[in-house]
Amino acid sequence: MPTTFDYTWDTPAYKGTTSFNTGLYIGGKFVDGSNKTTIDVINPTNGTLITKVAEGVDADVDIAVAAAQKAFDESWGLKASGAKRAELLGNLGRLMDKYKEELSAIEALDNGKTFGWAYAVDVTFSTDTIKYFAGWADKITGQTIETSQDKFAYTRHEPIGVVGQIIPWNFPLLMWAWKVGPALATGNCIVLKPSEFTPLTAIRMCGLIEEAGFPPGVVNIVTGYGNTVGAAISSHMKIEKVAFTGSTLVGRKIMEAAAKSNLKNVTLELGGKSPNIIFDDADLEQAVNWSAHGIFWNHGQACCAGSRIFVQAGIYDEFLKRFTEKAQKIRVGDPFGKDIDQGPQVSELQYDRIMSYIDSGRQEGATVHTGGTRVGTEGYFISPTIFTDVKPDMKIVREEIFGPVGVIIKFTDEEDVIRQANDTVYGLAAAVFSQDINRAIETAHKLQAGTAWVNCVNHLQAPIPFGGYKQSGIGRELGEYALHSYTNVKAVHINLGHKM
Ligand code: NAD
Repeated sequence: MPTTFDYTWDTPAYKGTTSFNTGLYIGGKFVDGSNKTTIDVINPTNGTLITKVAEGVDADVDIAVAAAQKAFDESWGLKASGAKRAELLGNLGRLMDKYKEELSAIEALDNGKTFGWAYAVDVTFSTDTIKYFAGWADKITGQTIETSQDKFAYTRHEPIGVVGQIIPWNFPLLMWAWKVGPALATGNCIVLKPSEFTPLTAIRMCGLIEEAGFPPGVVNIVTGYGNTVGAAISSHMKIEKVAFTGSTLVGRKIMEAAAKSNLKNVTLELGGKSPNIIFDDADLEQAVNWSAHGIFWNHGQACCAGSRIFVQAGIYDEFLKRFTEKAQKIRVGDPFGKDIDQGPQVSELQYDRIMSYIDSGRQEGATVHTGGTRVGTEGYFISPTIFTDVKPDMKIVREEIFGPVGVIIKFTDEEDVIRQANDTVYGLAAAVFSQDINRAIETAHKLQAGTAWVNCVNHLQAPIPFGGYKQSGIGRELGEYALHSYTNVKAVHINLGHKM
């Protein structure tokens, strides 16, 4: 039988306890995986076991798809009105408010992000996302189209059916909300796989789904590994759409599996190597603060992290001095500790990957200007790291590191920086700092990225679409745009008198 996870948290501001089942959640029940095996969930702060969760396999995906299809046919899909879907999503949003501290504590424990950030951003933004899509649920409408006098046509935006969703470990609850919100608002049923590194908030949300009143089978969570459960979802013949957030490498596999199975509709939110451009007329203090947030927030484990920082020659030395001071002031430590800015990286694997990128930067001749070391003797902590003296073909300039490691590059003028900024296979986000609004907007328009920030970074909100150009992805999440990925458009033609 599935086991229960009991946990007590104690932060300077909040104390509390939680207890929830860690089985697969299928058809409204917690169950064991078919093989009765489990996955160890490790605490990145000290490398110890947090709990075990059920390990799903291919057969469990089949069972979950059948449960989702049954719910779609009998109680959701075209059976639940938009008003009903809005009501239940609204309930869910309110429950997320009610359990905000608990969700924040679970997220901090599982991922290693600080409790403060989990509370202020992850859970708040996840809740906003669910409430935002609750507002859309009764506004899914098509068009009427006039063509000729004897014909009337209209479109219906129908739910797709059973959709598969595969999410990463860097924002476990937030990526859950970005996926689940639009899928439920449009009437789909879900089979979702969280990351094997951070499954806990997705599992805890099953209790809230139930409490919100969703019929059994509308949301199914199959915890497991990517090459089994993930692969089974992306190649499943009865899943007509898969939404994925994760690495570009795995994104290719998802597309390939979709192409080789039933040509399911695919949306991909993938990696990035985002440029952050600071012109010499920028408000320097603000540019330093935002740039540090851009690369060091969430320990650099953000797809849109501003990891390539381009600074115009006239302010380069002063920027570097202030940015270094800022990086050195970041307090690294226990995510539940007082005044901590940065916790551990999510896993030993990720820690090793980041450290090997730091080694490669050194070997290729870049200078570690600050950081580049392990912090402490247990857990997966890395000091905020800045590289200078980098060359465009170095791995640390070209590849996504997904850690607190930024490169600083000097540039001369607009043309030079736009060429360098766009010289990447990625195109997720970009930022421009300048007090000259024309210069800032012109540069923002020339950058090949799905999101361009002016005088800020990492600003994302539920009503504003997010997604990538180039190898950073296909499709858009958030905003009205997200709804398009979860509906099939049916055109209905009505003959008003045309005789054969
Ligand atoms: P990952 O690609 O390794 O894993 C993501 C998910 O895919 C996990 O659930 C994993 O189990 C699953 N998976 C692995 N192999 C699979 C396979 N063969 N078939 C199906 N599923 C499989 O990514 P990660 O390390 O968890 O997350 C980090 C990556 O996510 C980074 O590249 C980051 O940029 C990206 N990301 C992008 C966005 C965005 O919105 N663009 C947001 C967050 C993270």
